[in-house]
Amino acid sequence: MTSTAPRLRFAPSPTGYLHVGGARTALFNWLYARKTGGTFLLRIEDTDKQRSTEEHTRVILDGLTWLGLDWDEDVVFQGARVERHRAMADRLLKDGAAYEEEGAIRFRMPSGEIAFDDAVYGHIAFKGEDIRDWIILRSDRTPTYNFSVVVDDIDMRITHVMRGDDHISNTPKQVAVYRALGASLPVFAHVPMIHGKDGKKLSKRHGATAVGDYQQLGILPAAMRNFLALLGWSPGGDRELFFDLRELIDAFSIEGIQKKSAIFDTTKLEWMNGQHLTRTPGAELLPIIEPLLAAQGLNVAEDRERLARVTDVVKERSRTTLDVARQIMVRLRGDPVSFDDKARQMVQKHGDGFKHALRSAIERLGALPDEAWQPERLESELRSLAETMGFAAGRVFQPIRIALTGSTVSEPVNLLLTVVGKAESLRRLRAAEQSGSSVR
Ligand code: GLU
Repeated sequence: MTSTAPRLRFAPSPTGYLHVGGARTALFNWLYARKTGGTFLLRIEDTDKQRSTEEHTRVILDGLTWLGLDWDEDVVFQGARVERHRAMADRLLKDGAAYEEEGAIRFRMPSGEIAFDDAVYGHIAFKGEDIRDWIILRSDRTPTYNFSVVVDDIDMRITHVMRGDDHISNTPKQVAVYRALGASLPVFAHVPMIHGKDGKKLSKRHGATAVGDYQQLGILPAAMRNFLALLGWSPGGDRELFFDLRELIDAFSIEGIQKKSAIFDTTKLEWMNGQHLTRTPGAELLPIIEPLLAAQGLNVAEDRERLARVTDVVKERSRTTLDVARQIMVRLRGDPVSFDDKARQMVQKHGDGFKHALRSAIERLGALPDEAWQPERLESELRSLAETMGFAAGRVFQPIRIALTGSTVSEPVNLLLTVVGKAESLRRLRAAEQSGSSVR
């Protein structure tokens, strides 16, 4: 009995970086293989010797690894299979399915209908007469794309060819080669292109298009996967859009692939990243956060527990891991706090009240014993302080927040004070109290 488990492949040409469109294609193939207990293969189509580089191959493999898309067998390099392509071209020549012309081998397109059932677009038919006989082996005996892709897919026993719909027009040529070689057709599933928000095909004009760029911009692999999965695929119904890996594998289906082109919206990607940050425990984010802090000279290796706690506190208000790192830097590094515009305006507007609130807070909090520096106690101290002063609680909390972070938004102030610690908090409160009126 032959095995019926699906075999899929991602077949990038290493002529550029891993583009988000390619990553999305890889992800769909990978998800389908993982869902069905099938096999996911990687084939590097490096036959264009001029434009293919090892550097690009490495970046593509790194990008897939970063996304968690592991492949199952040794990577196949198309360039290493040229002898096989030549042998098959010679076979077609011998069979009369191809002929020689000026030293090249040209495939004889059959006449009549050439059709296939696309798993996304349905029945697609071309007329053989409309397609000219085409070269499968150039006169220098190098194979062309439409030919080697079929030889390789047959040899690799590929059952499903899922790729961008820009390949639909290549498919009748490929179908004719399958027939001429006596092989059965795989399932073809052509996936719609990705467009920018202006409806034009996604390009550099729209911003970063390489997967590696998003890694640099502080996007989590889990969020990138979630976001890419929803580019052209929909789970149906009104299910919420957050998916972890297991949920994606379970929910994915070829039937859910849309015909409409997908829109690449970086605001949505950042939102999604925020969702993943919120739901990932701080301790799990440390391998990503620590190098970012180290790059700015903050080494917290000796107190990873504290770092995990701080990460947990700030990740809720972060869209990227860079945001997380920035907020940690403000809280854990003893640099002078610099005020943002909103904070500055606030201080200018409430100068006297601001100083008065800070002075009273310093007095009250400074008198607390070290062991009282805990969220609940700090909260009750500050509330009672506001009450004594006849202030709404916010008029005490907000100056403290600004003094400690230079910003008007942060985690609740009692948590903030705990994260920054007693000595450093008091130091920042005093600094702000002294400079408060001179902030311009
Ligand atoms: N190397 C081709 C590409 O990058 C692969 C096409 C295919 O998947 O058949 O577009």
